[in-house]
Amino acid sequence: MSNIKCRVEECFYNNDEICQASTIEVKSRTKDLIVSNTDDTACETFAPKMKKS
Ligand code: SF4
Repeated sequence: MSNIKCRVEECFYNNDEICQASTIEVKSRTKDLIVSNTDDTACETFAPKMKKS
């Protein structure tokens, strides 16, 4: 289990605010790729949870 705390509860890999993915990829989300704060980053590994029927 990773030590990555994540509050994206809508992610498939999130279990009780801990990321269960073996690795994650985080990218810049700005057009010029210059990051200056947390909001400029985004997890590329995010996958939506399966919707319960
Ligand atoms: S894959 Fe990314 S968004 Fe999903 S739980 Fe892990 S860190 Fe959070």
